[in-house]
Amino acid sequence: MIEFPIFLDNHSTTKVDDRVIEVMLPYFTKYYGNAASRQHSFGWHSDIAVENSRKIISQFINCEPSEIIFTSGSTESNNLALKGILQNSKKHFITCVTEHPSIIDVANYLEKNGIEVTYLTVNKFGEINLDEFKNAIKDNTLLVSLMAVNNEIGTIHNIEAIGKICKEKKVLFHTDATQGIGKIKIDLKKMNIDLMSFSSHKIYGPKGVGALYVKKNVNLIPLFHGGGHEKKNRSGTLNVSGIVGFGKAIDIFSQNMEEENLRIKNLQQMLYQNILEKIQNIWLNGSFENRVTNNLNIGIENIDANHVMMQMKEVAISTGSACASISSQESHVLKAIGLSKNKIHSSIRFGIGRFNTEEEINYVTNKLSEVGKKIKNNFKN
Ligand code: PMP
Repeated sequence: MIEFPIFLDNHSTTKVDDRVIEVMLPYFTKYYGNAASRQHSFGWHSDIAVENSRKIISQFINCEPSEIIFTSGSTESNNLALKGILQNSKKHFITCVTEHPSIIDVANYLEKNGIEVTYLTVNKFGEINLDEFKNAIKDNTLLVSLMAVNNEIGTIHNIEAIGKICKEKKVLFHTDATQGIGKIKIDLKKMNIDLMSFSSHKIYGPKGVGALYVKKNVNLIPLFHGGGHEKKNRSGTLNVSGIVGFGKAIDIFSQNMEEENLRIKNLQQMLYQNILEKIQNIWLNGSFENRVTNNLNIGIENIDANHVMMQMKEVAISTGSACASISSQESHVLKAIGLSKNKIHSSIRFGIGRFNTEEEINYVTNKLSEVGKKIKNNFKN
């Protein structure tokens, strides 16, 4: 039995897992102490819970608990990483044209404040050229920021190779792993990552909580000043229930990440095969092999994707990222991989998640074909 509406927009956010909610609840009703209150048991309880989550998270990505700073999510983590390292440095920074706005907009801001920025371009699959990247590193390059997985087309960057180059050239490496965590294996030490952003609400945890990994001995200028929480890197009372939920969300992945990704990959393949069978004149945005299992981004020749979405309101899909839909901007990622204006407007992003089923995938493809037939005759009968 399908439960409507069907959620196939798991890049924008995810449903909170019941197991996560269960462990969070006592931290609203019983253990509601401030984790910084060191004089009574309410505070101790909260502090222990926060440190437990920090430990679970650090084990999952192979770092020390003390190297994790809790934040409100990846937007904040990205701001803290980039401004925290580059602000006032007058040095050179390398990033890429397909990054999330919480990197690109910060880079634009820093550029206005005397930082020199290189924006690497990508090929038609959204991949950077490693030689070009290597050549872009200069004597005064201080930081490189390249995302692990693209949020629109699911392209995976070769983080290990990038980390190796950064280490050789002695530049700091930050990665935005918001769409990578739980999808690809991340080993911070093996991959030579100095800073990494990630967020709880993309992995079946609550919204408003995330983290920045910062390697020991890498110093940041904080964004907020105040009580000196998180070793003076991020002042502000900790979101204890959120952090507990974030820890549990990671804990679930540490038990069954491979199994889950295999199941989601099967749904992805099924969705793609169904679309190929039922719809003519389609193309795949991004790479077939080098993409995460939960993403499918396809274009359908001569259709208006917004029009299609309006006709299938019982299905949550998107034409691009949630952030782009707030600002109603055209996808900068699809533009960067060389798509024309028309092709950008004919593209649809599917984000498959833990709670999707085969029945849902079949429903969505049948409906897509039905709607398409009404608005255009390039759908197979
Ligand atoms: N980076 C990427 C790649 C993302 O997909 C997102 C969320 N759309 C963010 C950063 C921002 O994350 P948050 O919502 O936790 O601020």
